[in-house]
Amino acid sequence: MLDIRTLITVLAILSLVAAGGLLLSWGRRPERFHLLLWTLAGVIGGIGALLSVSRAIVGMPVAIIIGNAMTLASLALVWLGLRAFEERKLPWLPATAVPGVWLVACLYPPFFDDLGVRVALFSALAAIASLGGAEAIWRDGTSRFAPRSLLFGILLFHAGFCVARTAYAGVVEMPGDLFASNPLVSISLIEQVLALFSAVLAGHAMVRERDAAELRREAQRDPLTGLYNRRGFSDEAQAAAARAAREGVSVAMLAFDLDRFKQINDSFGHAAGDAVLRAFAEVLKATLRDTDPVGRTGGEEFMALLPGADAARGTVVAERVRQRFARVAVDYGGARVATTVSVGVAAATAASADLGALSACADRALYEAKRDGRDRVRGVQALAG
Ligand code: GH3
Ligand code: MG
Ligand code: MG
Repeated sequence: MLDIRTLITVLAILSLVAAGGLLLSWGRRPERFHLLLWTLAGVIGGIGALLSVSRAIVGMPVAIIIGNAMTLASLALVWLGLRAFEERKLPWLPATAVPGVWLVACLYPPFFDDLGVRVALFSALAAIASLGGAEAIWRDGTSRFAPRSLLFGILLFHAGFCVARTAYAGVVEMPGDLFASNPLVSISLIEQVLALFSAVLAGHAMVRERDAAELRREAQRDPLTGLYNRRGFSDEAQAAAARAAREGVSVAMLAFDLDRFKQINDSFGHAAGDAVLRAFAEVLKATLRDTDPVGRTGGEEFMALLPGADAARGTVVAERVRQRFARVAVDYGGARVATTVSVGVAAATAASADLGALSACADRALYEAKRDGRDRVRGVQALAG
């Protein structure tokens, strides 16, 4: 036979250890308020569970009033932490009310003396906090297996368990010695501390998953302009071209190279050159569609893929970028720095065209634009897929 008190004690201590891990993470990134809230949830929940199994030592009132208040506070902190993690408004008032209502009710002797009513109120409050936490992380597509879905499932299960217990407490005579005579009480306590422990672990995993995604994003970005870098552009363009192939639509590839850029650096300095690069990126962002992959693929070289565009459409867009950029003059320390751009356009009628061949075509067209005097659009070699 498993000893229930030992089991709960071990799980409570594991929760405290997991909270220690969260505390270390928070120490490294103190701006992440959710880590502090989850640390407190793990500590307060762990101590609450320990109090609940130590009725013989701490006495019934402390075990019941304080132990359960801490358990509820811990759930409320999980809720708050999840809202903070999602950068949503923090529901301070309802979250404080979860342990608050419990504490106030315990001051009222007829409530405190009635085990059934006590269990019902505690369960209802715990269900509210769990549902709040589940709502905080709910998203369309939470169905994919991931820490988020796992935590969502844990919170929903816990809420369901608490609702069932609320109903049960209303109809069944509760026994005097909780541990000895009622296996449901043991199950209930184990479920509670397991939910806490797994919620803290899933929270950890959610943070890690987000960090990894952020790193992947950063590795694909050019810090100067915020556009994709060469690698990011290549990945995005491949994905967009594959989508276009499935839909049977054409794609156009645009290759840009700023004109006489070396002169800008030489006359105004590197920082002025950087300002011009940022200005060009702004023109691209303003002119292209948000869904068109666009990247800075070299020093002053950029590329864009236009899914759904044919050669004519690609030329129109390229011409628009060229004209807009020609009107831009960056004001740099009182000096007006202006430059122009040359563009090469290539299109594939069927999107199965290989991107390497397509960008080689766009590069050849770009070279022609340079040769013909710069500040112009050249190209259009339609590739059959
Ligand atoms: P062209 O009209 O033939 O394209 O002439 P260009 O001077 O633009 O071409 P070239 O390829 O000879 O020179 C590109 C210059 O871009 C070289 C370098 O000084 C500058 N450059 C490359 N990367 C950066 C960058 O990150 N910041 C700045 N400020 N300049 C850069
Ligand atoms: Mg160049
Ligand atoms: Mg250049």
